[in-house]
Amino acid sequence: MAKFLCVCGDTIQVSGDIPHPYQWNLLSDVDFDRHSGTVDADELYLQTTLMFRCPQSDHLWIYWRGPEHPPSLYSPGDDGQTQS
Ligand SMILES: [Zn+2]
Repeated sequence: MAKFLCVCGDTIQVSGDIPHPYQWNLLSDVDFDRHSGTVDADELYLQTTLMFRCPQSDHLWIYWRGPEHPPSLYSPGDDGQTQS
């Protein structure tokens, strides 16, 4: 998954710059709550879910099942509301 095509036509590179400008690392509140006190950033990173936000269209691509599976697409709504 070195890159993929967003529905807007923009190509999203998923490797390259570190830190990646379009990559977000999601962590559920439940997983976050398992940590207390000082946190190991590398350990925390491994528990996050990868998300890429298209810089052109704001579409969100989330790898819920890991980077070896296709991402789920979330589209921004015209009025700021989420769409399914
Ligand atoms: Zn896009």
